[in-house]
Amino acid sequence: MKVRLVTLVLLITFGCSSSRDSATTDSNSVSKPSTNTETLISYQDRITVPYLRTHLSVLAADSMEGRETGTRGQIMAAEYLAGQYRSMGLKPVGDNGTYYQNFDLSATKRDSTVFKTYKVEDGEKELIERSVESLDKMASYIRSYGGSDSLSGEIVFAGFGVNDPANNIAHLEGLNLSGKWVLVFEEIPHVVDGDTLVNPAIDGRRRLASAVNQKGAEGLLLIPDMNRAEFQDLAKRVQPMYSEPSSLSLDYLNSGSSSGFSKGYTVINPELATKILDLKGPKDLDSLRANLVDNISNFSPRTTGYMLSQTPYSSKPKVETENVLAFLEGGDPKLKDEVVVLTSHYDHVGIGRPDSTGDRIYNGADDDGSGTVAILNIARAFTEARENGYVPKRSILFLNVTGEEKGLLGSRYYSDHPVIPIEKTVANINTDMIGRIDARHEKMGQENYSYIIGGKIISSQLDSLLEVANKQSGNIELSSRYNDLKDPNRFYRRSDHWNFGRLGVPFVFFFTGVHEDYHRPSDEVHKIRFEKMAKIAKTMYATTVLIANTDKAPEVDNQEFIEITRDD
Ligand SMILES: [Zn+2]
Repeated sequence: MKVRLVTLVLLITFGCSSSRDSATTDSNSVSKPSTNTETLISYQDRITVPYLRTHLSVLAADSMEGRETGTRGQIMAAEYLAGQYRSMGLKPVGDNGTYYQNFDLSATKRDSTVFKTYKVEDGEKELIERSVESLDKMASYIRSYGGSDSLSGEIVFAGFGVNDPANNIAHLEGLNLSGKWVLVFEEIPHVVDGDTLVNPAIDGRRRLASAVNQKGAEGLLLIPDMNRAEFQDLAKRVQPMYSEPSSLSLDYLNSGSSSGFSKGYTVINPELATKILDLKGPKDLDSLRANLVDNISNFSPRTTGYMLSQTPYSSKPKVETENVLAFLEGGDPKLKDEVVVLTSHYDHVGIGRPDSTGDRIYNGADDDGSGTVAILNIARAFTEARENGYVPKRSILFLNVTGEEKGLLGSRYYSDHPVIPIEKTVANINTDMIGRIDARHEKMGQENYSYIIGGKIISSQLDSLLEVANKQSGNIELSSRYNDLKDPNRFYRRSDHWNFGRLGVPFVFFFTGVHEDYHRPSDEVHKIRFEKMAKIAKTMYATTVLIANTDKAPEVDNQEFIEITRDD
């Protein structure tokens, strides 16, 4: 590493002194811009705390409504970014000479779910209850998860619904559960009075998988430990699910089959459960639960004589959204066809469940307001350099993508519909969340760092350029803690850079880690550490300059990475 670094420094210095037109064009810059690396790097001082703060204060303001993909807030944020690029005089390379790359997403919107409960006697079905759950209606059931299919079946009672042979528990054995609703108490009594009753590894998810995947049940029907008011409260809180388009996806990638969990995971009003279990009142339900805890290994499932049908109604609205992109043309006649793409996602998660202070707006100041204003400021530094007659050799594309929080959709769309061919895209510099510090670094008292993902696990040359650039700019600690193709978290796939990486474009990703306000309404501007953010943005800027000006674009030379992208 050291050796290569020295060579590169020499190379860059040599490159500077040999670029003959560098010092002479200062006064006559407009006609023939210089591509001098050193001078370009000096424009990093245009990356400033006031600039970052000013723009982040707008993007992460409550008025942007959390910038959720397809909402008014996201469109306002897009317009704001486009306005900034326009004022910088960057070239619009989106649709029809705009800064926008528009595309449609398909979504699913729950309209309502109809629940019908029947009593079955001597083969005769009698409807005893029909209720509808929707944006303004509450039912005796809450469709909590899945349930995209129409589901119908007998209700059988299966205690806690767990099989744990080591503890002699077989609540799912002794009755054919195929095609049936399995009624269970919601809580699993893992530990009672210090004794382990049920293996804690058997959680709700595993219970659902056992009942549905292994036993073929239609779904789980959960009896919550709640009184009437608590159940109503829960039912009310989930109603907004019926207004929002969910499961956003790119049309052209849909394989045709419906996505998501089709079987049921539904909560039942305890009062109705009492009736179905042929009990007198809530007290009886409590004693049944307590009895079951005491005699947990002496239970097998039983039929109830009731059945349930759950029918979902949904629509498939189209959601319009857009990436924002702006272009700076390079100054080298041969290399300007090639491009370095800088990315951040400007969408966030919108308005949602309130936190303990009642705040419902998820501002996303760090995620990814921070990366987005860093890109803006980098664009500003480049355009100021251009105003003074300096441009990089290769071109630069500033790309703020949408739909990241919905599954990297905007970067996927761009990489499938690039405005500059992918073969001409020499690198992607991506950033998401660089405005805070994580607990690890808080403890160490180290603020000036960034996790780096990509770089050396893809291209040794890209890594060297980054190291050299950092020394001349932000001089931050470049942490490779998560930079491993064998990392079980697979961070290298988890943000927008992967949509470039999968196509063989080397990338480097800047990220300072998660924190307690991650995806919470409290991810706000006043918590951002602008000083260190400016340092990271400077390192990103200088890295961009070096990549744009290097004679030979960084090559993917890590065999392991090549194999991963080939198999993908
Ligand atoms: Zn993010």
